[in-house]
Amino acid sequence: MVLMHPAPALSTLDDAGLRTLCGRLGIPEYRAAQLRAAPWQPFVATLDDVRQLPTELRSTFDAQVRFSTATVAAERTADAGATIKLLCGLDDSLTVETVAMETPARGASRRRGTACVSSQVGCAVGCPFCATGRMGLRRSCTAAEIVDQVRLAGHALHRHGFGPVTHVVYMGMGEPLANAAATIESLHVLTGAAGISARRITVSTSGVVPGITRLQREAPPVTLAISLHAATDELRNRLVPLNRAHPIAALLSAAGSYASATGRRISVEWCLIGGVNDSLQQAQALRELARSCGAHVNVIPMNRIEGSSWGPPDPEVARQFLHQLRGVQVTVRDTRGGDVDAACGQLRASLEARRELRPDGTLSPPRTAVGA
Ligand code: SF4
Repeated sequence: MVLMHPAPALSTLDDAGLRTLCGRLGIPEYRAAQLRAAPWQPFVATLDDVRQLPTELRSTFDAQVRFSTATVAAERTADAGATIKLLCGLDDSLTVETVAMETPARGASRRRGTACVSSQVGCAVGCPFCATGRMGLRRSCTAAEIVDQVRLAGHALHRHGFGPVTHVVYMGMGEPLANAAATIESLHVLTGAAGISARRITVSTSGVVPGITRLQREAPPVTLAISLHAATDELRNRLVPLNRAHPIAALLSAAGSYASATGRRISVEWCLIGGVNDSLQQAQALRELARSCGAHVNVIPMNRIEGSSWGPPDPEVARQFLHQLRGVQVTVRDTRGGDVDAACGQLRASLEARRELRPDGTLSPPRTAVGA
């Protein structure tokens, strides 16, 4: 259950809501536009930093809205500072992981500032290779909590001397389409008030077929990524237990319909696990499947997680697996921040192991707190 704060979250108040608020307070309507833009200005961490608003208005609004629903409780960096892993504390003291990643400009590619956000505290899907899956589901995030993670990632990039967030990926803790209403609401805020192009936002799902249909109907046309990890139902039933409810054929059919309706190419994610899904047969089945739906394949060698016998593949086996994917557009993603537990759920798991995180998911008195 989410502990409800009495004041609404500023980041998810829409134009109409802000105009109503201004009207109720007897404040000119043009202030609504300033309030809407306020959370997305650079260097703004509280309403007090919004200098366009007179001091007395700032304190009036401060009593009416919440500027942020999340704060940074812990921070770690890796990759020479280009990956910043945040543990974000929520109202009820539960925590989620958020990652900010800086990718410098290279050749014709512009720089990217990517925020990887969590959509749930924990996850009910229970993939055995995932640290978050071991936690079970504590609760879903609100739209404001998702959006505020993007803001905190932007602040973190700024603190480390980088530019703003340009891309958002829903690949942190949780299954975003098991929390479809909040995910869709957050997408409207990010593509609206925050001004991030839908083309630069990716929602990754383990295969919630009704959620894909709803995303197609109700959300801006973001990129859909399918966390496939196995190309046969037999293996996928083990790796992604949700597959028993939504098998591969149904998933690919929903993804194909999404691609046709939005004109966005599907991405397929494949966490490559040594001795589990790195066989030539799986590679060949993946190639056929990716060709059939014109998908781009992202291969991510598994991060080792504490207490699991599974880990990354042998480099030569991985090379042969990739060789089988010829003819398909493939990207091998580096496991950014592997040295700071940056795979989904790993920072949290390692803090738990060091007893900085209580078993109920709340933080012990923080040893590395930084400002929001
Ligand atoms: S991999 Fe994703 S869907 Fe699977 S348990 Fe982890 S967070 Fe949930």
